[in-house]
Amino acid sequence: MNEILKQSEHHRVSELVVNWHLTEACNYRCKYCYASWIKPAESSAIWRNKNKTDQFLKSLKEYFDSTNDANPLTKDLHWSGLRLSLAGGEPMLLGDRFKDIVETASELGFKVSLITNGSFLSSETLEWLSPKLCMLGISVDTTQSNTNNLIGRVDTKGNSLSEGCLAKIVRLARQYNPSIKIKINTVVNQSNCNQDLKGLVNILKPEKWKILRVLPVINHNLTISDAQFKDFIELNQSVDTQVYIEDNLDMKDSYLMIDPHGRFYQNSLVQRGVTEYLYSDPILEKGIASAFNQIEFSSAAFCSRYIPNNIQGAAA
Ligand code: SF4
Repeated sequence: MNEILKQSEHHRVSELVVNWHLTEACNYRCKYCYASWIKPAESSAIWRNKNKTDQFLKSLKEYFDSTNDANPLTKDLHWSGLRLSLAGGEPMLLGDRFKDIVETASELGFKVSLITNGSFLSSETLEWLSPKLCMLGISVDTTQSNTNNLIGRVDTKGNSLSEGCLAKIVRLARQYNPSIKIKINTVVNQSNCNQDLKGLVNILKPEKWKILRVLPVINHNLTISDAQFKDFIELNQSVDTQVYIEDNLDMKDSYLMIDPHGRFYQNSLVQRGVTEYLYSDPILEKGIASAFNQIEFSSAAFCSRYIPNNIQGAAA
């Protein structure tokens, strides 16, 4: 009886996702950007040192391996695969170090995915990168250049990705890796909340379209009301893909996140107002078990983010 109860309380998911934000640096300047972390004294970003990076990745792999009973997460969450999601800032700005991190993580047995603004995805890069990724995530809020300018989603020359560029990137990624999954992340904010992106999504046909409400972490730039977020969802319903909607509170404690300095961090305080991140001690200094114990993480909230939702007509 107790065993049945225990099993029913156990959350199940096919893979656990650890998000490592490699760097704050980015060639874009989105006004709502969340990629800003308080720097600890006397510490530089992990990626700068190959030995540290290798040790760090090994530590993550061992600790979050599904067979590691010493990880307290295994008490209420069951997973089989382990995915490392590389994010930033813009991870591809790191050049050869980024490549080395992708290769090392793959060799250690992680499935690897990437969130990028897409501006460095040349044909040559995609040929190398696509076979190493299980998922390519591209952040796209709009394809209108004036809106990208308002958001700050442009490089120093004012360039952003057009619909044609995005379509080419997606086509090449699938050509070089037919099993790759494409994800589009859209942050709904004051500048794009009236836009209909169905046409773009139906052209790109991502396996996943994630719609996030701009989060008032760091600042209130471009934040929107409940009604504006709801209107965007209604305007963009009936696309031919799986849609995942995240309002601000859905993001609370539902991600496993690590900052560039190798600390777990969490948005446990998130409400509707500006809030700051909470940090663990650096993983390499205090040990991963001790650092993980210092942050909140909700298995239930994590699992609920992987259930497609809420837009009528989304594929099952
Ligand atoms: S593309 Fe991403 S990392 Fe770069 S500024 Fe925009 S939100 Fe921040």
